[in-house]
Order: sequence, then structure tokens, then C-alpha cells
Amino acid sequence: MVEFRLGSTRQPLRRILCLGSHCDDIEIGCGGTILRWLDEFPNLQFYWVVFSSTPKRRQEAFLSAQAFLRKARTKKVVMRNYRDSFLPSFSGQIKEDFEKLKKFKPDLVLTHYRHDLHQDHRLICELTWNTFRDHLILEYEIPKYDGDLGQPNLFVPLGQESYKRKVRYIMDAFETQRAKRWFEKEIFLALMRLRGMECIAPSGYAEAFYCRKLVV
Ligand SMILES: [Zn+2]
Repeated sequence: MVEFRLGSTRQPLRRILCLGSHCDDIEIGCGGTILRWLDEFPNLQFYWVVFSSTPKRRQEAFLSAQAFLRKARTKKVVMRNYRDSFLPSFSGQIKEDFEKLKKFKPDLVLTHYRHDLHQDHRLICELTWNTFRDHLILEYEIPKYDGDLGQPNLFVPLGQESYKRKVRYIMDAFETQRAKRWFEKEIFLALMRLRGMECIAPSGYAEAFYCRKLVV
């Protein structure tokens, strides 16, 4: 399969907007891809927004974002504190936040999957498409109790360095989540292994996304 590269010499990939409902969503959904791209593309600028947090989780998420974005040329990390599981109740205020994000002029937006069964995730996806009308948007997946994994259509193979670092950074950073049944490195590795099998990744591991619209 011919490899598709993001950006061109005329229009290189520079500005990436990462959106997550909860403190660890971005890392779980696309942390390996971010680490891979930071190794491959010089001069990446990141705007990283998490919409719900508590003081403790916010601290963890800041540390995690610092670890993931260490090689970024610039980074802006914003934690909002809307109540977890209630984001749809604040959709008007969150839409105002989205309007302000337009100024960043992202080349690429990483967001939740449209058919994710978590209501907070779906709202962030909906507002992403509703706000960014001439942008490349990739939707990442989050494994969960509801069992909503689908058939993604864009795969990012990850080298050992990226997928292992992703899991290590997540497990190290999010102490408050460690007691949760789903917060296990085997789950993160298993999903990446499955996606790696589906795209014949040389290392065996990959992250996958839903790309609804692509202009080449
Ligand atoms: Zn989440």
C-alpha cells in the first residue's frame, strides 16, 4: 500500500490542535501518533485542550502533556474544568471555547470519534466539525465498557519507541486512574496491536483514526 504523508513542501504540517473531553483522552487516543510525528516533523506547534478536569487530574494531565510534547517547537496546553460526564449540559459555553480556538488556524485537528458512545466525547466531536469547516480532521478511538470500537480507515504504524513510550507516559502520569478496571497497559497495547495487524505495521503496533474527508 502506498504511503500517504501529511503535508507537502509547499504546505508542511505545522499546527496541530488536539481536543479531548477528559484528562487522558488525547494520550490514549493518539499519543503514539503524536510521539511519532514529533520525531518525524520538525517545528510542530501544538494546541492541546482538555475540557473537563479536577484540580488533581488537571495536574496529572499537565505533566503528561509536557512529556508527550517535549519535542514540540511550541505548545499551549489548556485545561478547562467542566464537569466530567456532563459536557452536553455546557454545550453553549464549550462552543464559545471552540470559537476562540479558530485563531490557532490548525493544519490538522485530532478529536473524538463521531460514533463514540460516551456523551462527552460525542459533543467534542460534533463541535469540532461544527467549528472547523475547512480543515483536516482525524477522529481517534478510546476503548471503553460500552464496546463501541468500529472500523477505522486511517492507520499510523508506530515504532517500538513510540508505542512503548506512549503506554509508559500514560501509566506514569495518571495516578488517579490506576484503580480503574479499564486503565491497564494491556488494554492500550492490545488495541494498538490489533490496529497494527490490520495495517501490517512493521512493529506490529499502530493507532487508527476515522478520516471522513480528505483532499489530496
Ligand atoms: Zn474520555
